[in-house]
Formats: sequence, structure tokens, C-alpha cells
Amino acid sequence: MSCDVQQLAAPGVRNLKPYLPGKPISELEREYGVSNIIKLASNENPLGPPPAALAVIRQGLESLALYPDGGFDLCAALSRRHGIGPGRITLGNGSNDVLVLVAEAFLTPGDEAIYSQYCFAVYPMAVQATGATAMVAAAVTSSGRAGSGQVMGHDLAAMAGLVSDKTRLVFIANPNNPTGTWLEKLELKAFIEGLPAQVLVVVDEAYHEYAATVGTPDVSQWLDNFPNLIVTRTFSKAFGLAGIRVGYALSSAPVANLLNRVRQPFNVNSLALLAAEAALEDDEYLRQSVALNTRGVEQLSTGLKEKSYGVIPSAGNFVLVDMGRPAIPVYEALLHQGLIVRPVGNYGLPNHLRMTVGTEEQNKRLLSALDKV
Ligand SMILES: *Cc1c(COP(=O)(O)O)cnc(C)c1O
Repeated sequence: MSCDVQQLAAPGVRNLKPYLPGKPISELEREYGVSNIIKLASNENPLGPPPAALAVIRQGLESLALYPDGGFDLCAALSRRHGIGPGRITLGNGSNDVLVLVAEAFLTPGDEAIYSQYCFAVYPMAVQATGATAMVAAAVTSSGRAGSGQVMGHDLAAMAGLVSDKTRLVFIANPNNPTGTWLEKLELKAFIEGLPAQVLVVVDEAYHEYAATVGTPDVSQWLDNFPNLIVTRTFSKAFGLAGIRVGYALSSAPVANLLNRVRQPFNVNSLALLAAEAALEDDEYLRQSVALNTRGVEQLSTGLKEKSYGVIPSAGNFVLVDMGRPAIPVYEALLHQGLIVRPVGNYGLPNHLRMTVGTEEQNKRLLSALDKV
């Protein structure tokens, strides 16, 4: 008997395309034989991990025979930091995990979820896997629109226009990846206020620590006003722990209760729990990583504009750049010089590259490498 295993897959899974990660350094070494490689492809922290986290990881190695503690201490620390009860926190294996949990807990086939064109690639995947229907709002175009202005950013009026009786979830990234665009306090608050009570809204604040410099709101402050609000945060970006995988959601207690039902009991490993708790206390590291990034965004943006590339203003630790021609040959030419950036053709942006902000030295090398492509 032969059978097409494709046809056995759940309908939502059948047409899923796997997430494309940035090219790893080891792979580039093997394929191109280049060395001294700089990876500016995955919005990782150029400072490396926080020293305080490394210290507790070393100690934690001794306890690896035991299951993790379920995150009690980390939830307590997060509870103090955000001023909300530990029963309103859901830990994830990265915030990616939490985004998937939200989709699993609230979406079934026939439901609708809304997100924006050029949004983070994980939202479409999480929605599609459940069999729910994705409603994609066109991003702000060059003409702009009053109150929701940034070109390529989320058009909140367009998103609101897609809400129907079937809508269960709305995903918003503030700031957004890969565009770097952000939403301001008043427009975002008005949007959430306008949503029907039965529509949950996820505000993904993966880059919040960086974006605070341009004045994006800390939406976790609004949780008491909006029982339908879910805020996600991560240790992967400004906290420098992308490899160990920790993120979390803040929400109402009933929403957290539901998310914790679909969460695997030990979805965050014991070293990650320790590292995240230590990173949370390492104010000096966070301050340095934000300061380095603020200077780096400026350095890269200015340098790229001098070369006449189109730079989208960014509140994250990366910039989206319009190369003014197909981006893949430029990407390839940079690879040959040992620089890995991120093509974004999968986002419908074949002429753009996303470049993560590195150290001052790394940014300089990227800028001069562009002169040789
Ligand atoms: C990087 C990123 C995340 C975080 O992913 P983790 O799973 O926490 O590493 C979440 N949302 C957006 C928009 C991101 O760019």
C-alpha cells in the first residue's frame, strides 16, 4: 500500500512553509571557506550574553539531572518587575513558543486572526497551523494615513476594518520586525479600546527595551484596563540570551490559566530559567546593550543613507534597507566578504535586506563591504 503522507497532515499543516533562520556562521565557513565572519542576520545582541547569566548557568550545570522547577523563581522576579501577579505570567521557550500557545489556545478552523502585511513571520505560521483563517491588513503605503503614519508599518485603521464576528485574535508587533516601524501610545491605545471584548490582542514587545528610546508605550501597564490584552516579551534581544530560549506573556489571570493548559510542563529548561532571572537583575548589561544599539542604529542608518540606500526608520536593533535592486545578489556578495545579513523576500520584499545592528566595528565593516558589492 502506498500513501501520500502529505494528505495525512492536518489541513493547517499541509501548506505550512518552515521558518527560515539566518544563515549560521558555521555553514558559511563550510560553504564559502571564509573566516572572520560577522552575523548580522537574526537581531542577536552583539555584546554576547550577560556575564551575570553565564555565572548562574555554570552553577546550574550541577543540577541538570533534575527537572526544572516550573519557573517559580523567574515568575516571581517578573511579577516584581512588572507589578502584576505571578498567576498572570506564562513562560515560553522563547516568546515564539508563547505566540504559538496563544494561537493553539484560542483559534480553531473557522476563526479569524488579523495581522499586518510585513509582520513577524511567526504569526502567519502560528495561525495557519491551527486551521484558522488569516486576515492580512495592508501595511501603510507611501501616501500614509492620519494617525497611523509610518510607511510599511501596521495600518491600525485597516486592521480594525478586518474585525468581524469570527475574529478571535489580533497580532501587533511594537516595534515590528522586519520593518522596525513602531506605533505610538495614543494610536495603539485607541485601537485596543475599539476592539470588541471577545477579540484578544497580542502586543509583541520583543524589542521594547530598545524602542523605549523613541517613546513606544509599555503596554504591560494597560493590562488592568484590558482583560483581552496579551503582552509578549523576550530575553532573546536586549537581554542577550537568544540561544537559551526564554520569553513570556503577561495577561489577565484567566487568559494565563488557559495558556498554561496548553503549555508543556517543562517548556523552559532549568539553565534558561536561571539565566533569565540573572539577566533581569543585570541592569548594567541592559543599559549598555540599549546604548550600544542606539548609537549603532544611527551609525548604520547614516552610513547607508550616504550610500543612497532607502533606510526605514527603526526602533529595533536592526534596519530594513531598500537596496533599490534585487537584494539576493547583494546578500551573496556580502556573504563572500564574511558578512551575513537577512534577505526578506519571504516577506514580499525582494529588494530589501534586514541588517542587525552590531558593534561599532562590525557596523563599519558592513558599511565598507557594501562599497565592494
Ligand atoms: C525576535 C522576535 C521575537 C522573539 O523571539 P524569541 O522566540 O523570543 O527568541 C518575537 N517577536 C518578534 C517580532 C521578534 O522579532
